Amino acid sequence: MSDKKEVDDRFKKFGTVSFTSLTKTNDFITNLEEAKVTGTKCRVCGMTFFPPRSDCYSCLSSDMEWFTVSGTGKLVTYSKLQYAPVGFEGDVPYSIALLDYGAFKVFGRLAGDVPEEEVMVGMKMKAEPNRLPNGQINYVFHKA
Ligand SMILES: [Zn+2]
Repeated sequence: MSDKKEVDDRFKKFGTVSFTSLTKTNDFITNLEEAKVTGTKCRVCGMTFFPPRSDCYSCLSSDMEWFTVSGTGKLVTYSKLQYAPVGFEGDVPYSIALLDYGAFKVFGRLAGDVPEEEVMVGMKMKAEPNRLPNGQINYVFHKA
């Protein structure tokens, strides 16, 4: 006998904050296609989120608006991957990194054309949309 349900809602059990449907933040992809890397900002308390969230964990409001990640962030840390998760095996080696924009941080990849010897913690970088060879879209970090 199977205990499989019509709706698979197991992810609701994950983490300490209630699960939010991904569809609420799917505009992130549309924004990327319009060459904008975006996060969300709470209209009530002004808190900013990246990756975008549709609910504010500070004041619990769901009154959110999009903002474009602009300007530069400071490279906090990075790591070159020689082994990749399933689905990314063809991409290695690549570097994952974290940029600090002050009010929020952005996790992502360094652009493939950033010379390794020029990458330094503390350097200014900017997140920009990036079209992949297979037509998918993401964002990568370039030197500012
Ligand atoms: Zn808020």
